[in-house]
Amino acid sequence: MNRELLEKNFTNRGFKVSFFDSKEDAAAYLCGSLEGKKLAFGGSGTLKEMGLYEKLSEKNEVIWHWVNNTKETKMEALTAEVYLLSANGVSEKGDLVNIDGAGNRLAASLFGPGKVIYVIGKNKIEKDLESAMYRARNVASPQNAMRFGLDTPCVKAGGTKCFDCNHPQRICNGFSIVARPMLKQEVEVLFVDEVLGY
Ligand code: SF4
Repeated sequence: MNRELLEKNFTNRGFKVSFFDSKEDAAAYLCGSLEGKKLAFGGSGTLKEMGLYEKLSEKNEVIWHWVNNTKETKMEALTAEVYLLSANGVSEKGDLVNIDGAGNRLAASLFGPGKVIYVIGKNKIEKDLESAMYRARNVASPQNAMRFGLDTPCVKAGGTKCFDCNHPQRICNGFSIVARPMLKQEVEVLFVDEVLGY
């Protein structure tokens, strides 16, 4: 993880950037800085591996559809003060790429909560936007499809690549590339020097 390059490029795009050696350090920082706020999470293996829901729930209201999977929960996430998620791919140049099936994570990360925090493990970082998109499509999405136990071609192939399918269970329906924070939005990117999520 090239911290100097990431700090320079992401800061230049208007993001706030922090670096952590471990997921425990990143979790402690979030617990200290977000106390008392209404939070919402996107679907994220990274946040789950960090145990963040349990940790942040001690002193915050935390909305997460992985705990209560209803449309109402996803709608309420749009009203949180702070939205936390990861990304499916990140470019060293300052791009955050995500792919959604239902679009709730994309919607909340782009509009609604005034502050958005991305937590990024080192395995998500690629050299440019094209490689970050490739990763999101061919690594993260097939792994997500595997997690859901879908019947899509990527799952039948063991989650090793995307077939750009037209399957009714396709989860890759919406793509977002965040190149700068949206207007009137504060976006913080936490880079963690560990493998987190997929
Ligand atoms: S587009 Fe289809 S094959 Fe490709 S990752 Fe998504 S669900 Fe799998």
